[in-house]
Amino acid sequence: MPIHPPQPAPLADAQLRRALDASDNAIVLTNSAKRVVYVNEGFTRMFGYGPDEVLGRRLNEVLLGPHSDRDLIDSIRANVEAHGHLHGDTLLYGKSGQPRWASLVINPAGDDADGPGGSISILTDITLTKMHEVLQTRVLEGMVKELPLPELMALVCREVERIAPEVTATILAVDAQGLLRPLAAPGLPAAISRALDGVPMGPRAGSCGTAAFRNEPVVVTDIASDPLWDDYRALFVDSGMRACWSSPIRDHRGQPIGTFAFYYREPRMPDALHRRLVDVCLHLCAVAIERDSTHQRIHQLAFFDVLTGLPNRALFRSSAQRALVELHREGRPGALLFLDLDRFKQVNEMQGHAAGDALLCEVAKRLTQGLRARDLIARLSSDEFVLLLSECSTEQAVQRAHRVLHAIAQPLNILGQTHVPHASIGIAMFPSDGDTIDTLLRHADQAMHQAKSDHRHSLQLFSAEMNRRAQERAALERALQQALSDRSLTLHYQPQVLSSAPGTLHGVEALARWNHPQWGMVPPSQFIPVAEDAGLIHELTLWLLDEASRQLAAWRAAGHDVPCVAVNLSGRSFHRPEFAQQIGDALQRHGLRASDVLLEITESVMMDARPVTLQNIEALHHQGFKLSLDDFGTGYSSLSYLHRLPISELKLDMAFVQDLTTSATARALTVSVLSIAHSLGMVVVAEGVETTGQQQWLQAHGCPVMQGYLFGKPLPPDEIEAWLCAQAPRPYR
Ligand code: C2E
Ligand code: CA
Ligand code: CA
Repeated sequence: MPIHPPQPAPLADAQLRRALDASDNAIVLTNSAKRVVYVNEGFTRMFGYGPDEVLGRRLNEVLLGPHSDRDLIDSIRANVEAHGHLHGDTLLYGKSGQPRWASLVINPAGDDADGPGGSISILTDITLTKMHEVLQTRVLEGMVKELPLPELMALVCREVERIAPEVTATILAVDAQGLLRPLAAPGLPAAISRALDGVPMGPRAGSCGTAAFRNEPVVVTDIASDPLWDDYRALFVDSGMRACWSSPIRDHRGQPIGTFAFYYREPRMPDALHRRLVDVCLHLCAVAIERDSTHQRIHQLAFFDVLTGLPNRALFRSSAQRALVELHREGRPGALLFLDLDRFKQVNEMQGHAAGDALLCEVAKRLTQGLRARDLIARLSSDEFVLLLSECSTEQAVQRAHRVLHAIAQPLNILGQTHVPHASIGIAMFPSDGDTIDTLLRHADQAMHQAKSDHRHSLQLFSAEMNRRAQERAALERALQQALSDRSLTLHYQPQVLSSAPGTLHGVEALARWNHPQWGMVPPSQFIPVAEDAGLIHELTLWLLDEASRQLAAWRAAGHDVPCVAVNLSGRSFHRPEFAQQIGDALQRHGLRASDVLLEITESVMMDARPVTLQNIEALHHQGFKLSLDDFGTGYSSLSYLHRLPISELKLDMAFVQDLTTSATARALTVSVLSIAHSLGMVVVAEGVETTGQQQWLQAHGCPVMQGYLFGKPLPPDEIEAWLCAQAPRPYR
């Protein structure tokens, strides 16, 4: 026989009531006349009304408030009447006027003693969920639409004030300097918002400044008496604000980035709903503010120079283009000043990058100080700055440029050393020198280079002539690049002869020659500097080493006695760590030894303090290469440097040689150079010997080697062979 569990006894009324009262939902029974006949304790807890305050009244009368959706209520009524039930969300108000979002289910309760048409309503408090949902959706939508942060924050304030009409909400940001910046305070008088702007956070800075400072919520129940408000009281009390509760908005690392505050019109504490509202909002505000500052940071990185904070080229170009449109419309001129610091690289290299950075920041500051409202400024690259001066005539531009040069040239202290920075400025005028910002930039840049090469610390106005030269130079650069890749450069060789036996070679100097298909012979004095500036010189040098080595090996293979070949090296190649090795490799490819070439360097290489230069020189010396100091007497001519480097030969510059017969000073200097070189064990090669007078004087004063037109011009390889054959009878070597 199946065993049935014992049937539970039916619930007593009292038990049923207790169960209903225990529910968190509000349960309401109404009769056919829509009058309330029963509410549970959940109703009282949710809305604050006791049964005696509700019974016999219509639910609408009790719970609808200023922001309730009257249409919804009507449609509920209609629905219940038509279909007998309804489910919907609605905003209702509690006894103290507090809004409550409720999810409402109404079902007919069937006939009872009071007749047909009664209903049972079950209301669930969904205020928080609803609020969260509404706020989150709105704020996220706002972010997607790229609403400005103040607008988003105002939206949060208004939404909160809708739910809790007794509060006035404000959102402030804390900036990098720790100052408060109002983002939104739609319910506060504008004068108060303005007064809040720039208030520093601190231990007694009202509710918000203190909350940010302590990084914890601050409740001030009475602004009139709380000492935290001593400095800010008057304004707020006058406009009726009596209490303020402020909470810090924290970023993902927990640092305060803003405050979210509730103001009250009477002295009081926040209540439970307020606390929940704040919990929800703080998170949304943090997300929005952090996102905004990330945006700003990206903008800053994209458009501003990190070191000086000045606009960068991209920002300058766009704002300058707009400014030019404006000037064009007004029919006014403008000026573009292109400024480049003189010898900035030296500061960077000799004193380190920290010193260079400090100098750049100071220059940026000095440039900014002289600006007028409509002027634009930017840092283009390492030590290049530009200014766009609006409404500026040529004379005014020159005046301003002089003032800038003067301001820059004030002494300053960098890491304990006094500097007097100098700059060169090129000026291009709008619209006469160009009507787009790119043209103006290019022309002002050309003018600046002209200023630099004329004499430093100066300024130069752009001219059409300058533009022509710049274009020629650009064409030269392109053609040279082509020549290098076509291998269409050649080398000529100039004999260097022994004074004691002018028919005998000491060696030959390789000199680069460029025969351009249209332009004809381009002199090295023209294309070598272009190669240096355009970064082509290293490639040229490597080619030259290879070609000179190949030629020397070929001569020797053909039985020609060429003791060595001298090659001219550019200082720039010494900045490459692999240079010494590359020289060795070139020789090895052609079976030569280090003693077969002489490496001509200039005094600038000797003076170059860069470790890489010294390492290359050391490595070359170690491999047994001989260094020859070219153009001796023209540069720094610091004899004291001579013994520091492994120099084995000095080339006395032709300027001395050519003055020998006319100038006693040239003779005296030459005598001392010869004697110093002799005592240091160096060979002297006199360059540019053109006359027998010069030859005889040099010979008489013990100069061992000579080079010049008197003995032979630079010649193509086959003519060198002819020259060698012509020097018969050849002495035995
Ligand atoms: P540099 O090294 O001082 O070369 C000597 C220059 O003086 C050569 O001019 C040569 O033709 C010229 N010269 C020689 N003897 C006489 C003379 O008796 N009278 C006169 N008036 N001039 C004489 P060039 O070939 O025009 O070279 C000029 C400069 O270009 C060279 O001066 C050198 O600094 C540079 N250079 C030439 N070839 C190269 C190269 O392959 N590499 C590098 N880095 N520089 C080179
Ligand atoms: Ca030379
Ligand atoms: Ca020379």
